[in-house]
Amino acid sequence: MTAFAHQALPWNIIFGLGSIDRLPAAMDARGMDRALVLTTPGREESGQAVARLLADRSVGLLANARMHVPRGTVEEAAKVARNLGAKCTVSIGGGSTTGLGKALAAREGLSNIAVPTTYAGSEMTNIWSVTESGRKVTRRDACVVPAITVYDPGLTVTLPPRVSAASGLNALAQAVVNVATSVPTPFASSLGVEAIRKLGRWLPVVVAEPGDIKARCEALCGACLAAGALGVGSTGLHHRLCHAFGGTFDTPHAETHAILLPHTVAFNAPSATEGTQRVARALGVDDAALGLHRLARRIGAPTALRRIGVTTADLEVVAVVASRGSFSNREHVTAARVRAMLEDAFEGRAPRSARSARWRVEKNGSKQVSGNSVQRGQEE
Ligand code: NAD
Repeated sequence: MTAFAHQALPWNIIFGLGSIDRLPAAMDARGMDRALVLTTPGREESGQAVARLLADRSVGLLANARMHVPRGTVEEAAKVARNLGAKCTVSIGGGSTTGLGKALAAREGLSNIAVPTTYAGSEMTNIWSVTESGRKVTRRDACVVPAITVYDPGLTVTLPPRVSAASGLNALAQAVVNVATSVPTPFASSLGVEAIRKLGRWLPVVVAEPGDIKARCEALCGACLAAGALGVGSTGLHHRLCHAFGGTFDTPHAETHAILLPHTVAFNAPSATEGTQRVARALGVDDAALGLHRLARRIGAPTALRRIGVTTADLEVVAVVASRGSFSNREHVTAARVRAMLEDAFEGRAPRSARSARWRVEKNGSKQVSGNSVQRGQEE
């Protein structure tokens, strides 16, 4: 066992079918009132339902949350909160809504409550971001961790398969980077392994049968654990790349994670052999990167950056931005190595670990290589 440091986060979770009904009592127990309910445009109905449930504990609803938390959105929400005399916020929705609640907590001192309805997991981390002038600035601060988080799997059944798949892989990424790492902490990697088991097992069911409540419960619990791993763990090259794409080119957050994950796992595998094998075991596959690539295909998540509006010119920009300055990633990062990896992700090719196995197959004239059984041309 190597040395490690662990700082707990102040999670206060109510999980279970129908648990949204327990929110008013949980607020009363904490003396929380005058809540501004937040959601995304198009999800006003779910926001209104929460406002009705809170009755006079709510001062109003604002449905302006947007992906990557643009600064203008935060300023508009802060103004509305001040005008209504709000003392706290209740975010119902995905990571965009939770992110707005967190930004208001950090900037306006409004305590926040989260009711997550995707698998993004932002509610379990102390990470908050605001995007301005094409740059997503991210910080960690325990004050943004929601005072109450209500996970009600019943609220996720309306999530379309496309969103479930992408946000589920976003959750998986949070777990994977904290297991397939050269410096795991026992807290983060234990949460991560259980999250990978649950998400790997249940995401395909959620996508195939969106109304399957057992699958929704397991997947949401997996997302909670995955984001918990990120909350008490760390990020590296993978998140840096996703934030560079999202902040600079406004790519859809969850889809960017889904596409890049197999490639960043393959990239870091030489420096994190043991952790990468733990990911593979938790997924029940031989090769972690290839297993993640196949899972993404199976659940219909995008696997090519070119399919989400990225151009080849963008790859160079992100490779340079993401390899600049110092950050924690044991595997050596250079713009050229990152660029080569991004080209694979751009085309939707299988990650390099699997492809190098295939090249060995071709060289050896055999169809089977230890740790992989890749057929020629199969994954591209
Ligand atoms: P999102 O919040 O934008 O939601 C995606 C879409 O799903 C939206 O159109 C939303 O209206 C819709 N939706 C949400 N719940 C629904 C439901 N139950 N039924 C039908 N539709 C529903 O996207 P996301 O992937 O959840 O979150 C992405 C954002 O979260 C990004 O801004 C990202 O930076 C942030 N994030 C932050 C952290 C963190 O730790 N700070 C972690 C993960 C993601």
